[in-house]
Amino acid sequence: KTILEVSGLRAAVEGVEILKGVDLVVKRGEVHAIMGTNGSGKSTFAKVLAGHSAYQVTGGSVLFEGRNLFDLEPEERARAGVFLAFQYPIEIPGVSNSHFLRLAYNTLQSQRGKDELDPLEFEDFVREKMKLLEMNPNFLDRGVNEGFSGGEKKRNEILQMALLEPRLAILDETDSGLDIDALRIVTNGVNKLATKDNAIILVTHYQRMLNYIEPDYVHVMRSGRIVKTGGKELALDLETRGYDWVGVERRVSA
Ligand code: ADP
Ligand code: MG
Ligand code: MG
Repeated sequence: KTILEVSGLRAAVEGVEILKGVDLVVKRGEVHAIMGTNGSGKSTFAKVLAGHSAYQVTGGSVLFEGRNLFDLEPEERARAGVFLAFQYPIEIPGVSNSHFLRLAYNTLQSQRGKDELDPLEFEDFVREKMKLLEMNPNFLDRGVNEGFSGGEKKRNEILQMALLEPRLAILDETDSGLDIDALRIVTNGVNKLATKDNAIILVTHYQRMLNYIEPDYVHVMRSGRIVKTGGKELALDLETRGYDWVGVERRVSA
């Protein structure tokens, strides 16, 4: 029941190799946290999985449910059930969030050969999801990401994920402008939306995340590789000891 299998993944941006052999296996029903200091390659990893055009894959492989992820265009990845939050961070002033969300939802439904929802049906559906996420319905009437705070953008991201019901969601906590409130929103969303059939990869450098969520695995990225994997206790270790010791034990004990 493996959903994602990353083997020896290497990737470069502007000719500089950033990912230097990432290995990761994610199975159905699992929540994985990828942590690490600034510049360790976390966001690059997420963007490479998303198919961001600035990044060149220079080695290794990524299988999504047994298929070569890189054979799929970004839209096809979404259809296959991969959700990458930052695929939809755009601001669209004048277009209401509910209209935008319905469009995104219906596009995916029709691509999957399923029924689209009319505005009234969608309204019921989205309100149900918003109740689950404890979100204010006013949110639907605002312009897409227009003047949204960092926390509101995150909330929107989680709502999109709730609507699209992906098999694999990859959420990148970009470093800037996120406060404790945004962190709480994301982690609540993950807790509510994680099922035995899907998997979630949460990319973060916030060790406080562990106050809100219990990932099955915590990975530490360092210089473009995953250098250590553990359970949630690893994140607690990181909180007290920092990152400097990770991945250098062999040198220390030699
Ligand atoms: P993290 O998310 O862990 O903070 P990033 O993946 O954002 O790390 O960055 C990893 C390294 O790649 C950094 O040294 C960063 O400067 C470099 N990098 C990332 N994106 C680009 C880019 N578009 N052009 C040049 N260098 C980049
Ligand atoms: Mg960073
Ligand atoms: Mg980052």
